[in-house]
Amino acid sequence: MARRDWLRLALPVLLGAGLGLLAGLPMAEPWLGATVVLALLLIVHSWRLMRMVGWLRTDTPERAPEPGGVWGDAVAMVVRLYRDRRQQRSRLLRLLRELRRSTAAMPDGVVLLNPNAEILWFNRTAGRLLGLRGRRDVGQRVENLVRHPEFADYLRAGTRAGPLPLLIARMERRLSIQIVPYGAGQLLMLVRDVTRQARLEEVRKEFVANASHELRSPLTVICGYLETLVADESLPPDLAEALQQMREQARRMNLIVSDLLELSELESSDAEVQGAEIDVGALISQLVCDADARPGRHAELTTSVESGARLLGDHGHIRSAFRNLVDNALRYTPPDGKIALRWWVDQDGGWFSVADTGTGIAAEHIPRLTERFFRVDAGRSRAAGGSGLGLAIVKHVLQRHGARLRIESAEGRGSVFTCGFPLRRLR
Ligand code: ADP
Repeated sequence: MARRDWLRLALPVLLGAGLGLLAGLPMAEPWLGATVVLALLLIVHSWRLMRMVGWLRTDTPERAPEPGGVWGDAVAMVVRLYRDRRQQRSRLLRLLRELRRSTAAMPDGVVLLNPNAEILWFNRTAGRLLGLRGRRDVGQRVENLVRHPEFADYLRAGTRAGPLPLLIARMERRLSIQIVPYGAGQLLMLVRDVTRQARLEEVRKEFVANASHELRSPLTVICGYLETLVADESLPPDLAEALQQMREQARRMNLIVSDLLELSELESSDAEVQGAEIDVGALISQLVCDADARPGRHAELTTSVESGARLLGDHGHIRSAFRNLVDNALRYTPPDGKIALRWWVDQDGGWFSVADTGTGIAAEHIPRLTERFFRVDAGRSRAAGGSGLGLAIVKHVLQRHGARLRIESAEGRGSVFTCGFPLRRLR
């Protein structure tokens, strides 16, 4: 308390006591006089205090009492605090309203979830896309309302799911759902309608599949004629040379068309393939035999089959993926290099790797390797007979088996391509 306030409190008490003493003197009772005056002062203070408490209880700053003195100051301070708080609250409310209005107007759906995945709030778009309704659905667990097995898995993965959006079909729409953790375990769920993009993507895939299919028959005829013509020894040498080149290019076109058709087939569904048990050891031996049967010298191949575990998958697709990896290793490794094929199993799953001592790949190209027609050195890939689709096929085959492709490489020293299969795929 400031000195001034002490004075304002003490002065009336001292003055009152003095006056009481004086008033009591004529009656020879100075102490009685002082006591009466002090009691009166106490009654006045108590009355002012009661008024203030009564006012505080009503919560109406505009009807503040005006008791004067120190009590008046106390009332003024309470009124000031009250006004500040009210101003702050209305500022916050205004901000909150603005935020809600802007998120409600967002073209993307937003759902706020608590750590138990119960809905705290959602905007209009989310309500429309997911079929959520106002008060009825707030407080409900989101997977009880968005019933989708993949969504339940994605939600369970929660924070680990990372930024990868999940695509689901719902109410004749294709939705992209992304869960972003924030605050203390809360989750922000972003929902986008990607029906249009998904349709365009389907049209594109259909077009590529149809075009490849249409090209196949004429190409087979051309290749057939060229094979026959090249075998004709009576042709003049310059024509034979031209025909030889035509046959090589026709073969390349055939290879591209077959790869495109294989990719189209792999892309026709997102569902994981079941397939049958594959003897990986036998498959590796077959790959080595195929490589050795190729014309020309190539890098030495070694194998290491460290597990008898069988792989559950589509034999044709898995063979194609593994063969693409071996073909690449042969293509990008000089004949005096080494290529090692390995199959092993650990507590994380089954692993097939192809390691080579070839050209290697610069780090900046690695993330793009599985894109269609991406080549680090287009001329070299073409010259070596690559279609530019091999690793895209590998990626899709692995996706359809719940597996992943890991690429490690050092430019000039070689590369290791590893396919990682989950334990559920092993027998
Ligand atoms: P391509 O038919 O051109 O080999 P892929 O999709 O199989 O197409 O591979 C894409 C590119 O990745 C290749 O063009 C090549 O540049 C690079 N690549 C793939 N495998 C290897 C490897 N084992 N060593 C070096 N580069 C590789």
